[in-house]
Amino acid sequence: MNQVQDQSWTARLPIAELDQTGPIRQPKPPKAEPKKVQPPKEEAQTPAAPAAPDWREEFKLYAKGMREWARIHFRRWAHLFHGAAAGTLAVGPVSFLLVAGALGAALTLTTLYSTSYAVIVDGQEVGIVADQSVVDNAIQTVETRGSQLLGYRYQVDSEIDYSFTLTLKSGLSREQDISNYFYGQLNELSDQLRAYQITLDGRAVGVVKDQAALNTMLDSIKAEFITDATTSAEFVEDISITPVYAADNLMSVDQVEEALKANTTGETTYTVVKGDTYNGIAYRNDMSLSDLMELNPQASLNRLMVGDVLNVKEVIPALSVQTTEHVTYTEAIPCPVEEVQDDSMYKGDSKILTQGEEGEAQVQADVVYVNGYERDRTVTDTTTLREPTTTVKAVGTKERPKTASKGTYLWPVSSHRINSYFGGRKIFGSYSYHSGLDIHAVYGEAVKAADGGTVTFAGYKGSYGNLVIITHDNGTQTYYAHNSSLVVSAGQKVYQGQTVAKAGSTGRSTGVHCHFEVRVRGTAVNPLNYLR
Ligand SMILES: [Zn+2]
Repeated sequence: MNQVQDQSWTARLPIAELDQTGPIRQPKPPKAEPKKVQPPKEEAQTPAAPAAPDWREEFKLYAKGMREWARIHFRRWAHLFHGAAAGTLAVGPVSFLLVAGALGAALTLTTLYSTSYAVIVDGQEVGIVADQSVVDNAIQTVETRGSQLLGYRYQVDSEIDYSFTLTLKSGLSREQDISNYFYGQLNELSDQLRAYQITLDGRAVGVVKDQAALNTMLDSIKAEFITDATTSAEFVEDISITPVYAADNLMSVDQVEEALKANTTGETTYTVVKGDTYNGIAYRNDMSLSDLMELNPQASLNRLMVGDVLNVKEVIPALSVQTTEHVTYTEAIPCPVEEVQDDSMYKGDSKILTQGEEGEAQVQADVVYVNGYERDRTVTDTTTLREPTTTVKAVGTKERPKTASKGTYLWPVSSHRINSYFGGRKIFGSYSYHSGLDIHAVYGEAVKAADGGTVTFAGYKGSYGNLVIITHDNGTQTYYAHNSSLVVSAGQKVYQGQTVAKAGSTGRSTGVHCHFEVRVRGTAVNPLNYLR
């Protein structure tokens, strides 16, 4: 209770009485302890007079610093003043200033100021350091990082000067401030060197400067295959664009485009030479005949001319685009076929009794294309628009006789050498028409029925000489003329390959041969279109 009363009493003391009570409370604030303040004060006081000029010069030199010190330490300073005044009451204002000044100079020199160097890089001051090693360390840090970044030994290329100065310790640059300056230089360089490498399935294609133009070019390659129906488009190959630092061997975007579109399959066409066949060309290019015909939709299997240019390989660019299109189209639904057995017809023969009508369906499909060529088709929906009707077909059940016509025609003699072709020809300036083929034959060799049928003529007939005519099941007739002798007679059924005569040169003939004719509904046609 007493303490509380004392405190409230003290608090109400008039200010004038503070000095009298001061000594009593003096030991309480530890920093105001007179013993600590005393030594510097005595030092300053006693040698003050002789040392005055030096001291004043120092004072001038560090006036600025002292003011700074004073600002920062005013509170502490005031405290000292208070303590000194309260403790002894012996220090006057002037001597106090002297004390303070000396204190300031000493403290400033030892704790606040540092001998230092302004760092001047390429004529520009970038900081102040106490030791040049700070700059060396900063440069080393940046060079190490720069070398990692750029992939080659990066060196700071600047002229660095140092200028001696005195600086507040708080004003010294940190190593980081110096390194930041050099990082700025590195950034500028790396911006200049920054380029983009395009890689296809792990294989570097090239390096370009302009990333945006590269992306635009890649988009345009895709765009070539995009239609209104396209639902997705992507590159087949794994393509990646990586930032790199490069100054040399840069490619233009056009050059990269050319490389990406370049064909990877080598020569893709072949020019037909004498003696070529479709099968031979397909074989030599390691493809099937149907592959070859698929690549050459304009080509005809029946005709191959020297000088024709055939596609023998698909053109595959380095970078392929796969697109998917969702398409809707109508498709015919084939007629179901109902077979009816007919014992009046030979086995293997058939006849349509009722021709059905095809139906129609609406189909939706996802079609996958690579570089515009269809690769895959998945039907996602089929809607029948019209049902087909049934086709009724009669199928023969009667055993086929050996002499029945097969519908194919074999060469009548062993040789396939043609002495004279079918059609119009000029002999010694006069035009004549040849109704058959003159096929080379050896006198007396077997002349055979080209197909099964019925002998409808066997005898001598004018310029034909000894002639055999066979009428086949479909009404087509074959003629065998100029024979030396006949071995069949009219009305006889013959099978395919059966000998019907012996070769000779009877009738209007210039030498031994077989004159062979094919007549369809009475008209001679080119036998070469029938023989096999
Ligand atoms: Zn002839």
